[in-house]
Amino acid sequence: MTSVRRLYVLLVGYEILPKSVSTKDRGARFTMCEPICCYLLNTASGWILLDAGFDSIYVRDKDLAEKYFHSAGIYPPIVTPEDELAFQMQQIGVTYRDVTRVVLSHLHLDHAGHLKRFHHAQVFIQRKEHEHGFSAARPTSYFLEDYNSPDIDWHLCEGDWELVPGLRFLSTRGHTPGHQSAIVELPKSGTCVLPFDAGDLQENFDEEILPGECVDDEAALVSIRRLNKVVAETRGRLILFHDPVAIQRLRLAPAFYD
Ligand SMILES: [Zn+2]
Repeated sequence: MTSVRRLYVLLVGYEILPKSVSTKDRGARFTMCEPICCYLLNTASGWILLDAGFDSIYVRDKDLAEKYFHSAGIYPPIVTPEDELAFQMQQIGVTYRDVTRVVLSHLHLDHAGHLKRFHHAQVFIQRKEHEHGFSAARPTSYFLEDYNSPDIDWHLCEGDWELVPGLRFLSTRGHTPGHQSAIVELPKSGTCVLPFDAGDLQENFDEEILPGECVDDEAALVSIRRLNKVVAETRGRLILFHDPVAIQRLRLAPAFYD
């Protein structure tokens, strides 16, 4: 029996990227405007946030925008006032303090941005991802400032695991060393599969196309096939994090899946 009552999809910004960032060796000539999401779960044991979005301070502050984006030839993400995480949560009547648990798929800048606002919460992540995020080998897509605080209450996980009945996580490494994806069971909607960056677009799953950024191509392909299998076996709904077309057909907060 699931303990998850509602799944809210929060649209919290956009990224302007060459398509090849999402689809390896494909579409470099095309510029995409891809959504950034967070997911908020209402469960029998309280509010759980999946991923922490992108902190707009890096685009609102001109010096930070220069340092992190313009100087590297990268378009800064777009976060409208409506996209701000606090506003999105406010629409549902939830504050940062109401969230007692945060689970991160991985530590990229568009997934860990607001973590610094959840020092009161337990934060769950794969041990390998945590190690990589603090290692000298991490690429520039990891913003250490987002998660380098001694006040974060880290809980390190290994492999597949369950947080509460109806919310489990699968190790889907490949895009990063410790990427994980979520499987949510809802009372009416059934199984929702949340791949995060294991595959940004529907195309990644339809054609088994790897993410543009992979630390392990073979593992990334296993991850895509694993998630496709769960969708097929459960007749589940794939809820994509970065797909600009699929997002238009999702129920966005304050609407929800139950
Ligand atoms: Zn990523």
